[in-house]
Amino acid sequence: MTRRISIFGATGSVGTSTLDLVNRQADTYSVLALTANSDVAALAAAARTARAELAVIADEALYPSLKDALAGSGIEAAAGHAALVDAARAGADWTMAAIVGCAGLAPTMAALEAGGAVALANKESLVSAGALMMECAASSGATLLPVDSEHNAIFQCLAGSRIQDVSRIILTASGGPFRTRSRQEMLGITPAQAVAHPNWSMGAKISVDSATMMNKGLELIEAAHLFPVGLDRIEILIHPQSVIHSMVEYRDRSTLAQLGSPDMRIPIAHALAWPERIATPCEPLDLARIGRLDFEAPDAERFPALRLTRAAANQGGAAPAILNAANEVAVAAFLAGRIGFLDIAMIVEEVLTRYTAPMPGRIEDVLLADATARATARQVMESLAA
Ligand code: NAD
Ligand code: MG
Repeated sequence: MTRRISIFGATGSVGTSTLDLVNRQADTYSVLALTANSDVAALAAAARTARAELAVIADEALYPSLKDALAGSGIEAAAGHAALVDAARAGADWTMAAIVGCAGLAPTMAALEAGGAVALANKESLVSAGALMMECAASSGATLLPVDSEHNAIFQCLAGSRIQDVSRIILTASGGPFRTRSRQEMLGITPAQAVAHPNWSMGAKISVDSATMMNKGLELIEAAHLFPVGLDRIEILIHPQSVIHSMVEYRDRSTLAQLGSPDMRIPIAHALAWPERIATPCEPLDLARIGRLDFEAPDAERFPALRLTRAAANQGGAAPAILNAANEVAVAAFLAGRIGFLDIAMIVEEVLTRYTAPMPGRIEDVLLADATARATARQVMESLAA
């Protein structure tokens, strides 16, 4: 029996890694839907290679060019936000949520409502709407499989154990490309320097988040939703080699770690085959060559995103959604060369000060908080420029 799978964000870093695994096992998996934001050529090529049933482009204006690019293939073309959400409800057995940013929230929620297995890379949706997403999965019976390497590691370390026996979750962090830099040295960092991660090859947004360590803060919030042990039991540990992807300590002080080469195809394969395992083309771990593993405490003075994210997590309600939206706007502005590297966390902090929203009771409330936080971030940037 083949499993029908869909990939949201199929042209991105996680999306193409997922397709690489799926295309190697064409007799096990058949592709239902592939989606992308605006890269019609890459989406059409991926859909043809994977023999997908449906390709969806988020930008509605690109429907004619997608239809052209798929001519003669028998692959259905669709476009626009509603088509994306419909595709998430189309009945895949397994869905990869790998859109970047809160833009992935609606399709991810739709896939969870549909009740299949949802492999979650799109951490921003869980950060913004964590409680609602977890409730949705619980009520539909959907299986949420963490793909973020740390959360996948924790998921593996928890297998066969009871969450109430966990004393600590230790979220490892590479520290990013500026781990040893002073604040002064971070002033003139360019987008090109920020996206050059020492260990992982990833999309631009998450690479900048890794450089500011906002990524680890978002992951703290992500972990708190996926593994309800309490925020004060989730710690961040710098581990520059990215070999240990995270650890779980139990009440008897036994600590389990998951290790592997820094290749996203390993956690993706775990989520794809779960509860079984499949072979991957990834490098085996050569610990003799690596020689040593280093650890150090994180520094929230040099990386204020760590402080901001923990505060937003403790505050709860709409605060994580506001933080995430402000960060998305600030990172886009940094990548466009409009603000400096250190402005990112400063803008996020200012938005959290200026704007608060009530506890979201529905997804619409989250989307409103997200939109208002984006507008507030743009106002903060205008006052910076003035
Ligand atoms: P990416 O930028 O490489 O790809 C993003 C994908 O989302 C693309 O297919 C793009 O077309 C699509 N997309 C972008 N904006 C969209 C929109 N508004 N509407 C619909 N589709 C849109 O990003 P990535 O590095 O693959 O990351 C994807 C997600 O996975 C992010 O949430 C990221 O934090 C998470 N993640 C990535 C990695 C990694 O190694 N790249 C690791 C862990 C978690
Ligand atoms: Mg991660």
